[in-house]
Amino acid sequence: MNTTKKQPQRTCVACRSVGGKRGLLRVVRTPEGRVLLDPSGRLPGRGAYFCRENACLAAAVKGVQLEHILKVKMISEDRETLKTALGEILKEQAVV
Ligand SMILES: [Zn+2]
Repeated sequence: MNTTKKQPQRTCVACRSVGGKRGLLRVVRTPEGRVLLDPSGRLPGRGAYFCRENACLAAAVKGVQLEHILKVKMISEDRETLKTALGEILKEQAVV
């Protein structure tokens, strides 16, 4: 290991690939126990990462692995919010 730039290694929860050119999406469990997408990557709390592959985002929406990693049961409101947020990302990617 001899890299000039030190970057934390993030592993996609769904496919277990590390990093990724476009970066991984962070989903965070806040100290209040809420689960939300963290586009800035700066929110405090336990994080889980997903790459931007459709299959991985679909897994994120499903939430099983997410709940396992974050050790939390998502409330339906958070699940819906996450679903919407990830849906937006998928839509953007389809356009680009
Ligand atoms: Zn992935």
